[in-house]
Amino acid sequence: MITRMSSLFLRTLREDPADAEVPSHRLLVRAGYVRRAAPGGYSWLPLGLRVLRNIERVVREEMDAIGAQEIQFPALLPKEPYEATGRWSEYGDTLFRIKDRKGADYLLGPTHEELFTLTVKGEYSSYKDYPVMLYQVQTKYRDEARPRAGVLRGREFVMKDSYSFDLDDEGLEASYQKHRGAYIRIFDRLGLDYVIVAATSGAMGGSASEEFLATAESGEDTYVRSTDSGYAANVEAVVTPPPAARPLEGLPEAQVHHTPDTPTIETLVDFLNGAGLGREFTAADTLKNVLVKTRMPGEKEWTLLGVGVPGDREVDMKRLEAALEPAEVALVEEADFAANPFLVKGYIGPGVLQANGVRYLVDPRIVTGTAWVTGADKADHHVVDLVCGRDFTPDGTVEAAEVREGDASPDGQGTLVAARGIEIGHIFQLGRKYADAFELDALGPDSKPVRITMGSYGIGVSRLVAAIAEQHHDELGLVWPRAVSPADVHLVVAGKDDTVFEGGERIAGELSQRGVSVLFDDRTVSPGVKFADAELIGVPTIVVVGKGLAKGVVEVKDRATGERTEIDADAIVDHVTGLVRG
Ligand code: ATP
Ligand code: MG
Repeated sequence: MITRMSSLFLRTLREDPADAEVPSHRLLVRAGYVRRAAPGGYSWLPLGLRVLRNIERVVREEMDAIGAQEIQFPALLPKEPYEATGRWSEYGDTLFRIKDRKGADYLLGPTHEELFTLTVKGEYSSYKDYPVMLYQVQTKYRDEARPRAGVLRGREFVMKDSYSFDLDDEGLEASYQKHRGAYIRIFDRLGLDYVIVAATSGAMGGSASEEFLATAESGEDTYVRSTDSGYAANVEAVVTPPPAARPLEGLPEAQVHHTPDTPTIETLVDFLNGAGLGREFTAADTLKNVLVKTRMPGEKEWTLLGVGVPGDREVDMKRLEAALEPAEVALVEEADFAANPFLVKGYIGPGVLQANGVRYLVDPRIVTGTAWVTGADKADHHVVDLVCGRDFTPDGTVEAAEVREGDASPDGQGTLVAARGIEIGHIFQLGRKYADAFELDALGPDSKPVRITMGSYGIGVSRLVAAIAEQHHDELGLVWPRAVSPADVHLVVAGKDDTVFEGGERIAGELSQRGVSVLFDDRTVSPGVKFADAELIGVPTIVVVGKGLAKGVVEVKDRATGERTEIDADAIVDHVTGLVRG
């Protein structure tokens, strides 16, 4: 196929768009791949659509290869199935809810567990029908709080979602592993550098869960990995190993101290160390009680929640939110302190919280027998040696404390280092949550019903365009991996006379006949403009037909390495075909 730049629906931009913060967004707009149509809504122009379709093709090939079958649901969905699972309200503000002309409630699908489950229930009844894996490549809608970075986080985006249906846990594990393998092959073929990390399963519910993160500075996900083992996890999924509980016998009594001018942990520690208490204190000896408020979807009223973490750590709101999902979490405001006078700002201790019916959850490091310095519920006073399990008993633990580089790896091997990534895929074992909601059973060999167990697997297809661009670009423009490039070769005619144009036409025609797709710059603009566009657009091989043609040579430039080679004009078609076929 030959695509002529002289008629291609494409206008490249010399300037960066004002709203673009990350390289992929900047370059995809400048190179004319996408255009913004709405907040979090993007139009795909010809080159962009080709990249998107190339990614879809790789995804479909690998899904088909593991035996998953493609189907397609509407994006416009009735409310009832989502009410049956509670997600109509649990999804919160992220769900696009709409009404039809009769006033009936609908939603725009953010993910399709309900429909898949109901559809399988409608068609299948016997254990002999299972297992089955179904997928779709479809437009999803989520009213994201912060649509961002072009197609990286849209409110309308393309997702491949698949679901597995099995009779038992071993079957589910096998389907999960098949998907895991397919995802590895997909992301390898797409030329991505990525990590597989342990994940939380979010609003979908379920247990075993892993995310595929494309490594990128601009990524919104922070993950950690161990220096010594294969352990890697999204920060939200890091589970703190609790230290062993200690005996209570012989621990000193709790004592309240007057601690004036100690508004911060640092000033408190300095004060304690100057108070002649006979031992050294650090921030890690203090217990910081952070007050937040939570609200379950559909609730109007907020509920106070106390969160206790060692004073040398901050509360990580993303971790806290993940731990409390689907509840909404917000920081308390002045008005909340005013409405609850028992809260002495800066000096909140565990006792007063629980005495006033405020649930109190602590970091897993706060175990029975550990002694803490914490607020004494009185201005300018702290209590020393407040012992967990003796002087206070938390209502439970919560993973809210920040995870830090240098922390011990939860698997006991090595320490943690942190990096950032873009979530490109997510696989998890849902279990029976949806099968229970819709009573999805198969009739077993003994005529008894067997409850089906499910897995759910997503890939951000449109997000991948941006994720690949994040990893494959330089200061001049995009540098596509072959598998997704909008063309195999970018053929530039550099020169004014007819013989050069004719030579270019001939080479383009022959390449096309060999099945090589050619982006042919046959415009009458200056060579400088053409070269700049070729760098910006990012096709991996650039062929320049110019003055050299008179001597029988053309130039081949490798977009990624910048390396230029002169090739015999007679051999160019074979040469390029060889490069493309790899
Ligand atoms: P995120 O944490 O980035 O919001 P998620 O965990 O909510 O994503 P899933 O429900 O697991 O996303 O959806 C499957 C895949 O769809 C994700 O791994 C991601 O690649 C993609 N995806 C999710 N939300 C968006 C979005 N707003 N825009 C583009 N792609 C998205
Ligand atoms: Mg996810």
